[in-house]
Amino acid sequence: MGRASDIERAAEVLRAGGLVALPTETVYGLGANAEDPAAVARIFQVKGRPPSHPLIVHIAAAEHLDDWVESVPATARLLAAHFWPGPLTLVLRRGHRVPLEATGGLETVAVRVPDHPVALALLSAFGGGVTAPSANRFGSVSPTTAVHVRTELGHAVDFVLDGGACEVGVESTIVDVTGEIPSILRPGGVTREELEAVLGRSIAVPSASRVRVPGQHPSHYAPRARVVLVEPEKVVAEAELAQGLGHKVGVFLPASFADPAVKAHAVVSVPDSISAYAHGLYGFLRELDQQGCDLIIASLPPEEGLGLAIANRLRRAAGPRPSR
Ligand code: AMP
Ligand code: MG
Repeated sequence: MGRASDIERAAEVLRAGGLVALPTETVYGLGANAEDPAAVARIFQVKGRPPSHPLIVHIAAAEHLDDWVESVPATARLLAAHFWPGPLTLVLRRGHRVPLEATGGLETVAVRVPDHPVALALLSAFGGGVTAPSANRFGSVSPTTAVHVRTELGHAVDFVLDGGACEVGVESTIVDVTGEIPSILRPGGVTREELEAVLGRSIAVPSASRVRVPGQHPSHYAPRARVVLVEPEKVVAEAELAQGLGHKVGVFLPASFADPAVKAHAVVSVPDSISAYAHGLYGFLRELDQQGCDLIIASLPPEEGLGLAIANRLRRAAGPRPSR
Protein backbone atom coordinates (compact mmCIF):
# COMPACT_ATOMS: atom_id res chain seq x y z
CA MET A 1 0.00 0.00 0.00
CA GLY A 2 1.17 3.47 -0.90
CA ARG A 3 4.32 2.37 -2.71
CA ALA A 4 6.81 5.16 -3.43
CA SER A 5 6.15 4.89 -7.17
CA ASP A 6 2.41 5.23 -6.60
CA ILE A 7 2.92 8.32 -4.45
CA GLU A 8 5.13 9.89 -7.12
CA ARG A 9 2.61 9.11 -9.82
CA ALA A 10 -0.24 10.54 -7.76
CA ALA A 11 1.75 13.73 -7.13
CA GLU A 12 2.32 14.01 -10.92
CA VAL A 13 -1.42 13.65 -11.52
CA LEU A 14 -2.08 16.49 -9.07
CA ARG A 15 0.55 18.70 -10.74
CA ALA A 16 -1.08 18.03 -14.11
CA GLY A 17 -4.47 19.20 -12.80
CA GLY A 18 -5.91 15.71 -12.30
CA LEU A 19 -7.90 14.12 -9.50
CA VAL A 20 -6.45 11.64 -7.01
CA ALA A 21 -8.48 9.63 -4.52
CA LEU A 22 -6.45 9.37 -1.33
CA PRO A 23 -6.81 7.51 1.94
CA THR A 24 -6.98 9.49 5.16
CA GLU A 25 -7.67 8.30 8.71
CA THR A 26 -11.27 9.60 8.41
CA VAL A 27 -12.61 8.65 4.95
CA TYR A 28 -11.19 8.58 1.40
CA GLY A 29 -10.85 12.02 -0.15
CA LEU A 30 -11.14 13.17 -3.76
CA GLY A 31 -8.09 15.38 -4.07
CA ALA A 32 -7.00 18.16 -6.42
CA ASN A 33 -4.32 20.83 -6.36
CA ALA A 34 -5.90 23.45 -4.08
CA GLU A 35 -4.34 26.26 -6.12
CA ASP A 36 -5.69 25.09 -9.48
CA PRO A 37 -9.24 26.42 -9.95
CA ALA A 38 -9.92 24.18 -12.97
CA ALA A 39 -8.88 21.05 -11.07
CA VAL A 40 -10.96 22.13 -8.08
CA ALA A 41 -13.94 22.67 -10.40
CA ARG A 42 -13.60 19.07 -11.59
CA ILE A 43 -14.08 17.83 -8.02
CA PHE A 44 -17.51 19.45 -7.91
CA GLN A 45 -18.37 18.06 -11.33
CA VAL A 46 -17.36 14.50 -10.45
CA LYS A 47 -19.14 14.56 -7.09
CA GLY A 48 -22.22 16.31 -8.45
CA ARG A 49 -21.70 18.75 -5.61
CA PRO A 50 -23.08 22.30 -5.79
CA PRO A 51 -20.12 24.72 -6.29
CA SER A 52 -21.18 26.81 -3.29
CA HIS A 53 -20.12 24.05 -0.88
CA PRO A 54 -16.61 24.63 0.48
CA LEU A 55 -13.84 22.02 0.53
CA ILE A 56 -11.13 21.19 3.06
CA VAL A 57 -7.52 22.03 2.16
CA HIS A 58 -5.18 19.26 3.32
CA ILE A 59 -1.60 20.22 4.16
CA ALA A 60 1.49 18.22 5.13
CA ALA A 61 2.23 19.80 8.50
CA ALA A 62 1.00 22.37 11.01
CA GLU A 63 3.93 24.68 10.25
CA HIS A 64 2.49 25.28 6.76
CA LEU A 65 -0.80 26.59 8.13
CA ASP A 66 0.31 30.23 7.88
CA ASP A 67 0.75 29.85 4.11
CA TRP A 68 -2.95 29.17 3.61
CA VAL A 69 -4.74 31.54 5.95
CA GLU A 70 -4.76 35.27 6.63
CA SER A 71 -3.67 34.87 10.24
CA VAL A 72 -3.55 32.16 12.88
CA PRO A 73 -5.30 33.03 16.16
CA ALA A 74 -3.84 31.56 19.36
CA THR A 75 -6.74 29.11 19.72
CA ALA A 76 -6.09 27.70 16.24
CA ARG A 77 -2.38 27.36 17.02
CA LEU A 78 -3.21 25.50 20.23
CA LEU A 79 -5.67 23.10 18.57
CA ALA A 80 -3.34 22.43 15.63
CA ALA A 81 -0.46 21.70 18.01
CA HIS A 82 -2.60 19.19 19.93
CA PHE A 83 -4.58 17.45 17.23
CA TRP A 84 -2.54 17.56 14.01
CA PRO A 85 -1.99 15.29 12.26
CA GLY A 86 -5.52 14.18 13.10
CA PRO A 87 -9.25 14.31 12.37
CA LEU A 88 -9.68 18.00 13.19
CA THR A 89 -10.42 20.69 10.59
CA LEU A 90 -9.95 24.35 11.44
CA VAL A 91 -11.95 27.08 9.71
CA LEU A 92 -9.92 30.29 9.43
CA ARG A 93 -9.85 33.43 7.30
CA ARG A 94 -8.77 32.62 3.76
CA GLY A 95 -5.23 33.35 2.59
CA HIS A 96 -4.53 34.52 -0.98
CA ARG A 97 -3.25 31.13 -2.14
CA VAL A 98 -6.68 29.64 -1.74
CA PRO A 99 -8.94 30.29 -4.74
CA LEU A 100 -12.59 31.10 -4.07
CA GLU A 101 -13.48 27.96 -6.06
CA ALA A 102 -12.14 25.91 -3.14
CA THR A 103 -14.07 27.82 -0.49
CA GLY A 104 -17.41 27.99 -2.26
CA GLY A 105 -16.96 31.75 -2.47
CA LEU A 106 -16.42 32.14 1.28
CA GLU A 107 -13.73 34.34 2.80
CA THR A 108 -12.92 31.51 5.20
CA VAL A 109 -11.05 28.31 4.48
CA ALA A 110 -11.09 24.90 6.15
CA VAL A 111 -7.64 23.33 6.71
CA ARG A 112 -6.34 20.12 8.22
CA VAL A 113 -3.34 17.79 8.42
CA PRO A 114 -4.55 14.19 7.93
CA ASP A 115 -3.10 11.41 10.07
CA HIS A 116 -2.41 8.79 7.42
CA PRO A 117 1.03 7.78 6.15
CA VAL A 118 -0.10 7.62 2.50
CA ALA A 119 -1.87 11.01 2.61
CA LEU A 120 1.14 12.59 4.33
CA ALA A 121 3.56 11.05 1.84
CA LEU A 122 1.47 12.39 -1.04
CA LEU A 123 1.23 15.87 0.49
CA SER A 124 5.01 15.96 1.01
CA ALA A 125 5.78 14.68 -2.48
CA PHE A 126 3.32 17.12 -4.05
CA GLY A 127 4.50 20.02 -1.93
CA GLY A 128 1.28 22.06 -2.00
CA GLY A 129 -2.20 21.91 -0.55
CA VAL A 130 -4.76 19.34 -1.68
CA THR A 131 -8.47 20.16 -1.56
CA ALA A 132 -10.33 16.97 -0.85
CA PRO A 133 -13.96 16.36 0.01
CA SER A 134 -15.09 12.80 0.59
CA ALA A 135 -14.69 10.70 -2.58
CA ASN A 136 -18.37 9.92 -3.10
CA ARG A 137 -21.32 11.34 -5.04
CA PHE A 138 -22.84 14.33 -3.27
CA GLY A 139 -25.21 13.28 -0.50
CA SER A 140 -24.30 9.60 -0.44
CA VAL A 141 -22.30 7.44 1.96
CA SER A 142 -18.62 8.35 2.37
CA PRO A 143 -16.05 5.77 1.19
CA THR A 144 -13.78 4.11 3.74
CA THR A 145 -11.97 1.73 1.37
CA ALA A 146 -10.41 2.10 -2.09
CA VAL A 147 -12.97 -0.39 -3.39
CA HIS A 148 -15.80 1.93 -2.28
CA VAL A 149 -14.17 4.75 -4.27
CA ARG A 150 -13.69 2.67 -7.41
CA THR A 151 -17.23 1.30 -7.22
CA GLU A 152 -18.76 4.73 -6.85
CA LEU A 153 -16.57 7.03 -8.95
CA GLY A 154 -14.69 4.59 -11.20
CA HIS A 155 -13.01 6.23 -14.18
CA ALA A 156 -13.97 9.76 -13.13
CA VAL A 157 -10.89 9.66 -10.86
CA ASP A 158 -7.45 9.76 -12.53
CA PHE A 159 -5.66 7.79 -9.83
CA VAL A 160 -6.76 5.90 -6.71
CA LEU A 161 -4.21 5.49 -3.92
CA ASP A 162 -5.07 2.43 -1.85
CA GLY A 163 -4.18 2.84 1.81
CA GLY A 164 -6.43 0.16 3.25
CA ALA A 165 -9.53 0.75 5.37
CA CYS A 166 -9.79 4.17 7.07
CA GLU A 167 -9.06 3.85 10.77
CA VAL A 168 -11.48 6.43 12.21
CA GLY A 169 -14.26 5.90 9.68
CA VAL A 170 -16.17 9.18 10.11
CA GLU A 171 -15.17 12.62 8.85
CA SER A 172 -13.11 15.18 10.73
CA THR A 173 -14.51 17.46 13.38
CA ILE A 174 -14.83 20.96 11.92
CA VAL A 175 -14.15 23.81 14.34
CA ASP A 176 -14.71 27.44 13.46
CA VAL A 177 -11.89 29.46 15.00
CA THR A 178 -12.58 32.72 13.16
CA GLY A 179 -14.42 34.29 16.09
CA GLU A 180 -13.67 34.91 19.76
CA ILE A 181 -15.31 31.65 20.79
CA PRO A 182 -14.60 28.45 18.86
CA SER A 183 -17.59 26.34 17.87
CA ILE A 184 -18.07 22.91 16.34
CA LEU A 185 -19.59 23.10 12.85
CA ARG A 186 -19.59 19.34 12.37
CA PRO A 187 -18.86 16.66 14.99
CA GLY A 188 -16.28 14.10 13.88
CA GLY A 189 -13.20 12.10 14.76
CA VAL A 190 -11.89 14.44 17.48
CA THR A 191 -14.47 14.45 20.24
CA ARG A 192 -16.08 17.45 21.87
CA GLU A 193 -14.68 16.24 25.21
CA GLU A 194 -11.12 16.15 23.81
CA LEU A 195 -11.50 19.68 22.45
CA GLU A 196 -12.91 20.95 25.74
CA ALA A 197 -10.03 19.40 27.69
CA VAL A 198 -7.48 21.24 25.56
CA LEU A 199 -9.39 24.53 25.41
CA GLY A 200 -10.23 24.46 29.11
CA ARG A 201 -13.80 25.53 28.37
CA SER A 202 -17.02 24.13 26.99
CA ILE A 203 -17.56 24.31 23.24
CA ALA A 204 -20.87 24.78 21.47
CA VAL A 205 -22.26 22.47 18.79
CA PRO A 206 -24.71 24.76 17.00
CA SER A 207 -27.52 22.97 15.22
CA ALA A 208 -28.49 25.83 12.89
CA SER A 209 -26.60 25.97 9.59
CA ARG A 210 -25.14 29.42 10.10
CA VAL A 211 -22.29 28.53 7.84
CA ARG A 212 -22.79 26.53 4.68
CA VAL A 213 -21.72 23.04 5.53
CA PRO A 214 -22.92 20.21 3.29
CA GLY A 215 -22.90 17.91 6.28
CA GLN A 216 -25.71 20.05 7.65
CA HIS A 217 -28.09 19.39 4.78
CA PRO A 218 -31.18 17.42 5.82
CA SER A 219 -30.08 14.40 3.80
CA HIS A 220 -26.40 13.50 3.56
CA TYR A 221 -24.31 10.40 4.18
CA ALA A 222 -27.37 8.52 2.88
CA PRO A 223 -27.52 4.97 1.54
CA ARG A 224 -30.07 4.03 -1.14
CA ALA A 225 -32.28 2.35 1.44
CA ARG A 226 -34.48 4.64 3.51
CA VAL A 227 -33.16 4.98 7.07
CA VAL A 228 -35.59 5.06 10.01
CA LEU A 229 -34.37 5.77 13.53
CA VAL A 230 -36.19 4.31 16.52
CA GLU A 231 -35.51 3.81 20.24
CA PRO A 232 -32.96 1.02 20.81
CA GLU A 233 -35.52 -1.22 22.51
CA LYS A 234 -37.90 -0.89 19.53
CA VAL A 235 -35.41 -1.82 16.80
CA VAL A 236 -36.31 -5.52 16.69
CA ALA A 237 -40.10 -5.02 16.81
CA GLU A 238 -40.07 -2.24 14.17
CA ALA A 239 -37.82 -4.27 11.90
CA GLU A 240 -40.03 -7.35 12.10
CA LEU A 241 -43.15 -5.27 11.54
CA ALA A 242 -41.72 -3.65 8.39
CA GLN A 243 -40.36 -6.98 7.15
CA GLY A 244 -43.84 -8.44 7.63
CA LEU A 245 -45.26 -5.62 5.52
CA GLY A 246 -43.06 -6.68 2.63
CA HIS A 247 -40.00 -4.46 3.07
CA LYS A 248 -36.50 -5.79 2.71
CA VAL A 249 -35.33 -4.62 6.10
CA GLY A 250 -31.75 -4.11 7.17
CA VAL A 251 -31.27 -3.86 10.93
CA PHE A 252 -28.59 -2.09 12.93
CA LEU A 253 -28.88 -4.30 15.97
CA PRO A 254 -27.69 -2.42 19.10
CA ALA A 255 -24.98 -4.35 20.92
CA SER A 256 -26.96 -4.47 24.16
CA PHE A 257 -30.06 -5.89 22.44
CA ALA A 258 -28.32 -8.58 20.45
CA ASP A 259 -30.97 -10.97 19.20
CA PRO A 260 -29.62 -12.99 16.30
CA ALA A 261 -33.10 -14.40 15.69
CA VAL A 262 -34.51 -11.09 14.43
CA LYS A 263 -36.63 -11.67 11.31
CA ALA A 264 -35.18 -9.28 8.75
CA HIS A 265 -33.55 -9.32 5.34
CA ALA A 266 -30.09 -8.46 6.70
CA VAL A 267 -28.64 -7.76 10.13
CA VAL A 268 -25.63 -5.72 11.20
CA SER A 269 -24.52 -6.24 14.80
CA VAL A 270 -23.46 -2.83 16.06
CA PRO A 271 -20.02 -3.17 17.70
CA ASP A 272 -19.82 -2.64 21.44
CA SER A 273 -16.90 -0.28 21.15
CA ILE A 274 -17.84 3.17 19.86
CA SER A 275 -14.62 3.53 17.87
CA ALA A 276 -15.28 0.19 16.17
CA TYR A 277 -18.79 1.44 15.39
CA ALA A 278 -17.44 4.65 13.81
CA HIS A 279 -14.85 2.62 11.90
CA GLY A 280 -17.54 0.34 10.46
CA LEU A 281 -20.49 2.74 10.09
CA TYR A 282 -20.29 3.62 6.39
CA GLY A 283 -19.33 0.09 5.43
CA PHE A 284 -22.42 -1.22 7.24
CA LEU A 285 -24.67 1.19 5.34
CA ARG A 286 -23.08 0.21 2.04
CA GLU A 287 -23.38 -3.48 2.89
CA LEU A 288 -27.11 -3.23 3.58
CA ASP A 289 -27.57 -1.41 0.26
CA GLN A 290 -25.62 -4.12 -1.47
CA GLN A 291 -27.82 -6.80 0.05
CA GLY A 292 -30.82 -5.09 -1.52
CA CYS A 293 -32.43 -3.65 1.60
CA ASP A 294 -34.98 -0.89 0.95
CA LEU A 295 -35.35 0.08 4.60
CA ILE A 296 -32.80 0.33 7.40
CA ILE A 297 -33.95 0.38 11.02
CA ALA A 298 -31.38 1.79 13.45
CA SER A 299 -31.12 3.64 16.74
CA LEU A 300 -28.83 6.42 17.89
CA PRO A 301 -25.87 5.73 20.20
CA PRO A 302 -25.44 7.92 23.29
CA GLU A 303 -24.25 11.31 22.03
CA GLU A 304 -20.94 11.48 23.82
CA GLY A 305 -17.44 10.89 22.52
CA LEU A 306 -17.52 9.50 18.98
CA GLY A 307 -21.23 8.78 19.51
CA LEU A 308 -21.92 12.45 18.75
CA ALA A 309 -20.51 12.10 15.23
CA ILE A 310 -22.19 8.73 14.61
CA ALA A 311 -25.58 10.10 15.73
CA ASN A 312 -25.06 13.17 13.51
CA ARG A 313 -24.39 10.97 10.44
CA LEU A 314 -27.32 8.64 11.17
CA ARG A 315 -29.68 11.61 11.56
CA ARG A 316 -28.54 13.01 8.20
CA ALA A 317 -28.84 9.60 6.60
CA ALA A 318 -32.42 9.47 7.90
CA GLY A 319 -33.17 13.07 6.87
CA PRO A 320 -35.74 14.07 4.26
CA ARG A 321 -34.39 13.42 0.76
CA PRO A 322 -34.55 15.36 -2.43
CA SER A 323 -36.08 13.25 -5.21
CA ARG A 324 -33.27 11.35 -6.87
P1 AMP B 1 -16.91 16.78 2.65
O1 AMP B 1 -16.69 17.43 1.37
O2 AMP B 1 -18.28 16.19 2.70
O3 AMP B 1 -15.88 15.82 3.12
O4 AMP B 1 -16.90 17.93 3.71
C1 AMP B 1 -15.99 18.99 3.79
C2 AMP B 1 -16.51 19.83 4.90
O5 AMP B 1 -15.75 21.00 5.24
C3 AMP B 1 -17.88 20.32 4.54
O6 AMP B 1 -18.77 20.01 5.57
C4 AMP B 1 -17.64 21.77 4.32
O7 AMP B 1 -18.73 22.55 4.36
C5 AMP B 1 -16.65 22.09 5.39
N1 AMP B 1 -16.04 23.38 5.13
C6 AMP B 1 -15.10 23.63 4.25
N2 AMP B 1 -14.78 24.94 4.23
C7 AMP B 1 -15.56 25.55 5.14
C8 AMP B 1 -15.70 26.89 5.58
N3 AMP B 1 -14.99 27.88 5.07
N4 AMP B 1 -16.61 27.13 6.53
C9 AMP B 1 -17.33 26.11 7.06
N5 AMP B 1 -17.24 24.83 6.67
C10 AMP B 1 -16.35 24.54 5.73
MG1 MG C 1 -18.83 14.30 2.18
